[in-house]
Amino acid sequence: MSDQKKILLLPGDGIGPEVVAEARRVLEALQGGDFNIEFSEGLIGGCAVDAHGTPLPDATLEKARAADAVLMGAVGGPKWDTLDRPLRPERGLLRIRAALDLYANLRPVLCFDELAEASTLKPEIVRGLDILIVRELTGGIYFGEPRGVVEEGGQRVGINTERYSESEIERICRSAFEYARVRDRRVCSVDKANVLESSQLWRDTAERVARDYPDCALSHMYVDNAAMQLVRGPGQFDVLVTSNLFGDILSDIGAQLTGSIGMLPSASLNRQGQGLYEPVHGSAPDIAGQGKANPLATILSAAMMLRYSLGRGDLADRVEAAVKRVLANGLRTGDIAGPGEAVLSTAQMSAAVVAAL
Ligand code: ATP
Ligand code: MG
Repeated sequence: MSDQKKILLLPGDGIGPEVVAEARRVLEALQGGDFNIEFSEGLIGGCAVDAHGTPLPDATLEKARAADAVLMGAVGGPKWDTLDRPLRPERGLLRIRAALDLYANLRPVLCFDELAEASTLKPEIVRGLDILIVRELTGGIYFGEPRGVVEEGGQRVGINTERYSESEIERICRSAFEYARVRDRRVCSVDKANVLESSQLWRDTAERVARDYPDCALSHMYVDNAAMQLVRGPGQFDVLVTSNLFGDILSDIGAQLTGSIGMLPSASLNRQGQGLYEPVHGSAPDIAGQGKANPLATILSAAMMLRYSLGRGDLADRVEAAVKRVLANGLRTGDIAGPGEAVLSTAQMSAAVVAAL
């Protein structure tokens, strides 16, 4: 049986192509024996608008459907900010998530102690932090109907609708419990059940799902309290599961607790385990094309891909260990370097990871 995995690379815009190229080098270094990859490439975001007049060409979507997993860089930049909404690069991302039904967004909030030890300690960095935020990605207020801006009583009214079905809540809660099982077996469900009906259903459904996971503990928290607790005592959390909107906000708080946005990976998965993997950071137009970008967030996203879509947790472990070793050896890109520390280029950093493998 050939075990060749199909990976679609979507470099995107800004620093996207630079960091995806380096993650590819790391994946290539793992090839051999029973692990082989067939890479293909596609366009998404601003570069796709320039080439084909749409941020998500059909050809890209077809390739994505045929792939075991997709590794993306980032989309967007000032060049496309003034386009009409359907042409905006970010639309390409929303559309591919919806088309592949990538409902489970995993955002590890992980502080590398190797970084916290050595570098200039920002006061907000929390050593030893290891949380997994599981955000519902294809429902809720970002997609609910009715929506729009309407005329009402002589003025304009903006409308969005928070909407969740039981089945949507159930599948994301199940995902959260499954991930909790290979962690500390604690799930905290975040909602606003004291005010929102959709949240009340969320809470009831989480309770029902929890009965299938008697080995895990479920707690509930209102989102305002969860935001405060994340800043005050983030060490209390293991797995957080929440809606699209709340997850968007809480995961950005989480990112700040870890020290560098250039270090954080993410995964978006569907029921078949197919996934889109991307760094948490954006296209960083301010440093694009200068070889300054930290490739570790994308390399760690590739590790998540190995673990969650390619069934190779063993190789994911190797990549993560290599990243830790590189950091422990004091190697730094500009975003994670302290004053006076030597700064590596994007390519030098990934070369160091490959060497550590
Ligand atoms: P988006 O709207 O796409 O989220 P953004 O402007 O909010 O974009 P980023 O593009 O992530 O955010 O950039 C925020 C800051 O972090 C910029 O100064 C950028 O240079 C820096 N940055 C982002 N990613 C990296 C990286 N991989 N390595 C180094 N610096 C980075
Ligand atoms: Mg942003």
